[in-house]
Amino acid sequence: MKDNTCKKVVEKIPLFLDGEMPENEIPIFLEHVKYCSKCGERFDMEQSFKDAIKARCERKCVSEQIADSIRNKISMLLARS
Ligand SMILES: [Zn+2]
Repeated sequence: MKDNTCKKVVEKIPLFLDGEMPENEIPIFLEHVKYCSKCGERFDMEQSFKDAIKARCERKCVSEQIADSIRNKISMLLARS
């Protein structure tokens, strides 16, 4: 039960970061990442990664290709852990 919740929360991190999460799910999601250190860490990691790309895009528009390769690298790292 608990593991299943974590899996769903982790899957929804990108939705949240993209602002595509249904509003009724947001409080549940935030509550979980706040109290579950595992998901919280993952959330922080994805969020700072996304912020880094965004910041770089704002300064000097980085090509989608570079963003994609970084994204792939991160997901590889995450898949291994
Ligand atoms: Zn969790």
